[in-house]
Amino acid sequence: ENRTFTMIKPDAVESGHIGAILEQISASGFKIVAMKLTQMTQHDAETFYAVHKERPFFGELVEFMTRGPIVAAILEKENAVEDFRTLIGATNPTDAADGTIRKKYAKNVGENAVHGSDSNENAKIEGDFHFAGREQF
Ligand code: ATP
Repeated sequence: ENRTFTMIKPDAVESGHIGAILEQISASGFKIVAMKLTQMTQHDAETFYAVHKERPFFGELVEFMTRGPIVAAILEKENAVEDFRTLIGATNPTDAADGTIRKKYAKNVGENAVHGSDSNENAKIEGDFHFAGREQF
């Protein structure tokens, strides 16, 4: 598969990093095939992150992801899922490699600037959650 799904999270949008993050994504060879500025409702966030509903940080995660607008996008590149997770770096910016998007822009393990799908199956589910078929080029 050659697509992944990403969100620029509310912390990075608030801090004015949309342009720099999209620049790094493009410079790394990813083509944008769907994109919008949107805000998740509580229901949206609870559904999107349902896999984490038993985790202690679930409430905090939903509150964070709904507090302001995000940029949602579908990206295309050979080996997209794995290469994009390499580009964004570890969940906790303390552990993220130098030059990765989270190392540069994440505030902490929760407010960590960007999302990247963790499998081809989830990339399809998450892209379809945010975009109608006619919005995916
Ligand atoms: P993402 O799914 O956003 O790409 P990930 O796969 O690196 O992140 P997960 O373990 O799936 O990380 O966690 C999903 C999201 O939940 C994280 O990106 C982060 O915003 C939040 N999160 C994870 N761990 C914690 C924590 N210990 N405290 C607060 N928030 C957390």
